[in-house]
Amino acid sequence: MNGLMMQRALLVSSLLVHAERHHGGQQVVSRRVEGDVHRYSFREMAARSRRVANVMDALGIGPEARVGTLAWNGYRHLELYYGVSGAGRVLHTLNPRLHPDQMAWIADHAEDEALFFDLSFLPQVEAIAARVKTIRHFVALCDRGHMPAASAIPGLLCYEDLLAAASDAYAWPEFDEHRASSLCYTSGTTGNPKGVLYSHRSTLLHCYAAALPDSLNCSARDTILPVVPMFHVNAWGLPYAACMVGARLVLPGPGLDGRSLYELFESEGVTVSAGVPTVWQGLLAHVETHGLRFSTMRRTIIGGSACPPAMMRAFQERHAVDVLHAWGMTEISPLGTACALKRHQLELPAAERYRVQAKQGRAVFGVDIKIVDDAGRELPWDGQTSGELLVRGPWIVSGYLNGEGGSPLVDGWFPTGDVCTIDADGFMLITDRAKDVIKSGGEWIGSIELENIAMSHPAVAMAACIAARHPKWDERPLLVVVRRPGVELAKQDLLNFYTGRIARWWTPDDVVFVDSIPLGATGKMLKNRLREQHGEHLMTTAVPA
Ligand code: AMP
Repeated sequence: MNGLMMQRALLVSSLLVHAERHHGGQQVVSRRVEGDVHRYSFREMAARSRRVANVMDALGIGPEARVGTLAWNGYRHLELYYGVSGAGRVLHTLNPRLHPDQMAWIADHAEDEALFFDLSFLPQVEAIAARVKTIRHFVALCDRGHMPAASAIPGLLCYEDLLAAASDAYAWPEFDEHRASSLCYTSGTTGNPKGVLYSHRSTLLHCYAAALPDSLNCSARDTILPVVPMFHVNAWGLPYAACMVGARLVLPGPGLDGRSLYELFESEGVTVSAGVPTVWQGLLAHVETHGLRFSTMRRTIIGGSACPPAMMRAFQERHAVDVLHAWGMTEISPLGTACALKRHQLELPAAERYRVQAKQGRAVFGVDIKIVDDAGRELPWDGQTSGELLVRGPWIVSGYLNGEGGSPLVDGWFPTGDVCTIDADGFMLITDRAKDVIKSGGEWIGSIELENIAMSHPAVAMAACIAARHPKWDERPLLVVVRRPGVELAKQDLLNFYTGRIARWWTPDDVVFVDSIPLGATGKMLKNRLREQHGEHLMTTAVPA
């Protein structure tokens, strides 16, 4: 017997319709590339998104076309999120931090028909304009007064001109909820990047799950500032969640340094933010150097790479800002687990509570997780045994665009490439990416824990731990460290810092001090680059034991 409930497709446009009807006066505040701060309401955003849909029709962009964006977090990008997907086209967010060669490759692979870009990225667009095969329209996200005087891009269009000429009347079409809504490429550290194609259904289900109290905990009373870029995995779904719950949205544009972010947090009364650890490092350094306080910020969600416990302590103890550690992937839309404590964990002594909070957390409903050994056998949830993490669920990839790389699934599960333990409470702790694990004398050493210890040293600004080739043990941990400005730190002092904190044989063999650690396009440390630079270090310095 079937239930007798209505069949209503889960569509991205319904978020916008809801936001306009029920939270029409709610604000979207954006720091613009032009340098000023722009503000308007969900009502105006909805009207302009409808204009975007009409612009696409007028430009003759195909009904299921991929439409590329190269833009910061800002209101025009938001209008494209809704105007492109709402009409049934596929929003393809390109990562502007990629090399132009990669960008052109990705735009060709996705067969983008148009590219909308912020003026900050004009040089990148000029570098690819003559090469890309399918893009017919280039649109600068600005008004006439800010259009570049001369540009190498023939027929460059002006976004505000196009919108002004379009009607704001548009009826969002209804279609199958499985239809694609947006597209994001993996970072491609192994081989070519692969396209992850989200559907309307997966986006909405992910949005419900992301908004839950033990997930990103979004509400109409919040002012949310996503530092996570809208060009990577849909800014963790926050642009959708804000419309679902009616939260005020503050979009930081290009100003991602500590000072710019802090000013925006304070001037706009931001209550919640979300980003990768490297961004928070800049923010914390700024507030601590200048003796500042957060007057409205209450929570921050940290993910994308492991959040060092020292960072958690700084936020929670010095600034009364709660940290929620979360884990996800491009292939998981991205939210998979979040580390909201269970009731009994609230009673734990501080040190133990931090040990739990440093974990990546428990599965959000909708995401099923398990760990397996090399033979694919499921491993126990004892907090000790580590294996590869596999996941499945309705917002997890089932295959890549154009079937690239074949089916990624193993018996219906997606292998994440992350190595982790799961404890009896279901809390997952990533010890490493499979490809970053250090194999020493046949045993595994997790680099993340070694980095976290280094990061808790007051003189360390950033630390990466990599496998360096060793004459006797095959691989040994090598620390690559950026010192805090103006502080002294000797190698041996840092190595001694590990005593009593970790098994002796896990202690790194040596330290290399550097001025900076290379970061990838999504703010993660590029360990493969570090391995290229320092991977042979111990071959010359190690004393075989
Ligand atoms: P991406 O698809 O580029 O967002 O990268 C996903 C990968 O980032 C995951 O497979 C993890 O290796 C890593 N990652 C994401 N969140 C975390 C976290 N909280 N702790 C450790 N690693 C993380």
